[in-house]
Amino acid sequence: MDVLISGASIAGLTTAHWLARHGHHVTVVERSDGLRSGGVSIDVREEAVEVARAMGIWEDVRRLRVPHDDVYRFVDESGATQAELRPAADVYDNTEDVEISRDVLADLLRAAVPDDVDFRFDTWITAITTAPDGGRAVTLDDGSVLVVDLVVGADGMHSAVRELVFGPERQFVHHLGLYVSIAKRCRSVGVATGSEVLNTPGRMVMLRSDGTSTSALLGFRSEWLEHDFRDVAAQREIVRRAFAGMEGWVAPEAVAEVVGAEDFYFDSVSQIRMPSWTGERTALVGDAGYCASFFSGMGTTLAMVGARALAEALEEAPGVPAALRAYDQRMRPIVERAQAIADQGAALLFPTTREAIEERNAALRAAAPA
Ligand SMILES: Cc1cc2nc3c(=O)[nH]c(=O)nc-3n(C[C@H](O)[C@H](O)[C@H](O)COP(=O)(O)OP(=O)(O)OC[C@H]3O[C@@H](n4cnc5c(N)ncnc54)[C@H](O)[C@@H]3O)c2cc1C
Repeated sequence: MDVLISGASIAGLTTAHWLARHGHHVTVVERSDGLRSGGVSIDVREEAVEVARAMGIWEDVRRLRVPHDDVYRFVDESGATQAELRPAADVYDNTEDVEISRDVLADLLRAAVPDDVDFRFDTWITAITTAPDGGRAVTLDDGSVLVVDLVVGADGMHSAVRELVFGPERQFVHHLGLYVSIAKRCRSVGVATGSEVLNTPGRMVMLRSDGTSTSALLGFRSEWLEHDFRDVAAQREIVRRAFAGMEGWVAPEAVAEVVGAEDFYFDSVSQIRMPSWTGERTALVGDAGYCASFFSGMGTTLAMVGARALAEALEEAPGVPAALRAYDQRMRPIVERAQAIADQGAALLFPTTREAIEERNAALRAAAPA
């Protein structure tokens, strides 16, 4: 079968691996001019561990993981620690729940994609129609047309395939009231110890160390903001404004680092909720179909599990329509469970008032072992 995958990140690379491994002829188009870098660490857990194992990358994932012994220190404007949160001891011991740099995982997945997969960077889909043989005729941005048996949208929360096949994004977005922005390497703020967090009402500046370098993660509460998700200059301005006047600790430096970062990342903390992730010879995999949100810790796991589930359904079901139905059915309970836990942590990391910040800190101090 000829398959076109849009997006070469976690979902797209894993799907490319499994489909090529099952003998399909795979082309991947990616809008960026290479694998898109950026972001902090992501979690590989639950069924994704088995997927990584079956791909032959699990030992490398474990070897290259970020240490799990994360302590959250909540500081005040002077930098003094007000409270600490230490994850339960069994989290440290759980070797089947791994945190790894997003870039490192993407590189491992890329290396696991068979050589005969055709990658086309700096390329994207502009139209999808029905071909005379019932397949999909896909127009690329250079005007060329590929006729394929299946299109896979693995192009993230703002999926172009979803927009072209299922309609405007807004109807599927469930905004959780938060935005995040990241700079992977901050040089001006020193090396943090674990994760250090400063809150003002509805805003958070977090520094996270992986032992050698420090990332800055900014978050703020906000209603849905209408903006062009490809206009990076406008996004930098949104972040700059959201953190205007945030003083104390190293917050101004961290904000300046994020706003000016080369690998600047900004997005809403939202879920994608759809009644089905498949259409006529089309399937959505990963955030494109069922983004669980930035703070769920499940986005990468869903993407990897979904990629393999789609490939297996195509292998086992009699024909593409039956396979797409089987994929939908297999993923539904997994996605619903992941999306149900998505906004855990928001109250802890984004208290909305000064009193709520004090209460959070007092509760953590009271719960800390003597
Ligand atoms: C730069 C970046 C940083 C991130 N940082 C974090 C993080 O720190 N923590 C976290 O939990 N999650 C982060 N995420 C999200 C995380 O990667 C996903 O939630 C999860 O791994 C599922 O991945 P995905 O492949 O479905 O989507 P994504 O990782 O979002 O990948 C989508 C891919 O599709 C490409 N693409 C987009 N539009 C098109 C188009 N029209 N045509 C072709 N290609 C297109 C993108 O460039 C990207 O490579 C980040 C995502 C990105 C892109």
